[in-house]
Amino acid sequence: MFESFDREIRNSDSMTMHQNFIGGSWIDGQEAADNINPSDTGDIIGSYARASRQQAEDAIGAARAAFPAWSRSGIQQRHDILAKVASEIMARKDELGRLLAREEGKTLAEAIGEVGRAGQIFDFFAGEVLRLAGEKIASTRPGVEVEVTREPVGVIGIITPWNFPIAIPAWKIAPALAYGNCVVFKPAELVPGSAWALSDIIVRAGAPEGVFNLVMGRGSVVGETMLNDDRVDAITFTGSVATGKKVAAACVEHMRKFQLEMGGKNPMVVLDDADLKVAVECAVNGAYFSTGQRCTASSRLIVTEGIHDKFVDALTDRLKGLVVDDALDTATHIGPVVDQSQLDQDNSYIDIGKAEGANLAWGGERLNRSKPGFYLQPALFTETTSDMRINREEIFGPVASVMRVKDYEEALAKANDTPFGLSSGICTTSLKHASHFRRNAEAGMVMVNLPTAGVDYHVPFGGRKGSSYGPREQGRYAAEFYTVVKTAYTLP
Ligand code: NAD
Repeated sequence: MFESFDREIRNSDSMTMHQNFIGGSWIDGQEAADNINPSDTGDIIGSYARASRQQAEDAIGAARAAFPAWSRSGIQQRHDILAKVASEIMARKDELGRLLAREEGKTLAEAIGEVGRAGQIFDFFAGEVLRLAGEKIASTRPGVEVEVTREPVGVIGIITPWNFPIAIPAWKIAPALAYGNCVVFKPAELVPGSAWALSDIIVRAGAPEGVFNLVMGRGSVVGETMLNDDRVDAITFTGSVATGKKVAAACVEHMRKFQLEMGGKNPMVVLDDADLKVAVECAVNGAYFSTGQRCTASSRLIVTEGIHDKFVDALTDRLKGLVVDDALDTATHIGPVVDQSQLDQDNSYIDIGKAEGANLAWGGERLNRSKPGFYLQPALFTETTSDMRINREEIFGPVASVMRVKDYEEALAKANDTPFGLSSGICTTSLKHASHFRRNAEAGMVMVNLPTAGVDYHVPFGGRKGSSYGPREQGRYAAEFYTVVKTAYTLP
């Protein structure tokens, strides 16, 4: 159906280099790296270019050169390119989902869902191109007209993490292009496959030369080059707090716009009046699905006394029944951890939890499966306290801890006792407590009787405190970051 299919298959061959796309051409990197399947480390998905500093600078230069024309391009052209990207992603959802599951390790169902979401995001922003409007406001001075419009920002540097290899790039690239910006896109080193496939689709959808550039490579090379180049007008970053701080410092130095989405330590409160089944499903989904590798994961389960023991028993039973195995196997509930270094981090936090006196109620064992992969049994700590490191620092794996609390008031205080503020959930049948929690949870997103992870694509996404900085992503709110406001006064 799409002419790309042959290309995709050729380029998926591990012997074929997947190149970067710079200034309208596919280009070899300074070096290359293998993309390894975490479910089966003997399976090499392909070889992917890693750009040099010079190549990253060339990409920025190409984006800069393309900006004047693209920023004045017609809305029909921009709409059509984004709509074409959306329809190809949707048509190839299963194939791209398979690639995503193979390189990142989330299950096939989760991966196909993520690809579908990327398609929906492009579709949404194709529509937003046509809906961008300004305002005409009366002046306080007679005869003067005031017009408020939004203009593109310029060259946007996009730096993304490994845990949502297609959805996060989509929710940054789509609005950037929709509002008339040029893009230099640097995906995470661990998951170049989905990024390359998405870029291939964008290029073939007709983005003019220089408007969209893909520079796969190291954060310390490509990422830092983007941070240090004055020709980049704005940086949108999703990743860890440590890298986010470097991005922020560099952006302040260059006096450019920036947006950060970082870690989480999301609480899920379970009150005595909760529907036990709903609460357990929210916890299993929120804490463990996608191998717990979600910024919105419910890593802190805050449970009131009356339901505590029943909840822990039911959750433990449910964990015992989960299948941890190859992400591509349809019977799998939880895939592997993404790589050895993340597995080491998860294991070290399991040791820290034990040393801090938390009770390891279930899991935490390294698992062997028929293929060599980074398999970890989901772990549940109980009898934990708010000051423990396992409750303060982001683990980013299938590890959750339960805190026992007296009542709603203590639960809310514990939920907010964290340096992060991305997502926050409560399971309750009390309208009073649900309403109070919605208003008083110190988080960008609040979920009632729903997992803390799992959001819609057409509404704002983002957090507070140490989780986020700058305007919200997604939905109409994305215009805040990807445009600059101009106020024009005219005396006709
Ligand atoms: P990371 O910070 O290690 O890397 C993120 C990106 O930054 C990668 O592309 C990396 O190459 C790049 N990078 C690294 N060093 C750099 C430097 N010096 N200069 C410029 N770029 C550099 O994060 P990760 O391990 O890929 O992702 C996991 C983290 O992402 C977790 O903390 C998770 O919570 C967070 N995350 C947050 C959200 C959110 O929306 N809040 C969503 C997903 C993931």
